[in-house]
Amino acid sequence: MNFMVKCCECNRVRLENNWLPEYEAVKSNKTIFSHSYCPDCLRKIMAQLEAWSPAPEREAEALPAALDLHQAVGG
Ligand SMILES: [Zn+2]
Repeated sequence: MNFMVKCCECNRVRLENNWLPEYEAVKSNKTIFSHSYCPDCLRKIMAQLEAWSPAPEREAEALPAALDLHQAVGG
């Protein structure tokens, strides 16, 4: 039984340090796959995540308002 890592984006399979098409990497039909990202797809996903995350300046605006509220409750 083989255990291999497959990229869930491009379906390439890791063989040692190379990412190969499944038909090249898999010699046995008893292979178990763990799904992950290859380095190429990981870079793409990380770039998308950065684009989705809230703008840093919005967090900086929200923080002083929260501190003011805390002081009002305490005093
Ligand atoms: Zn990939």
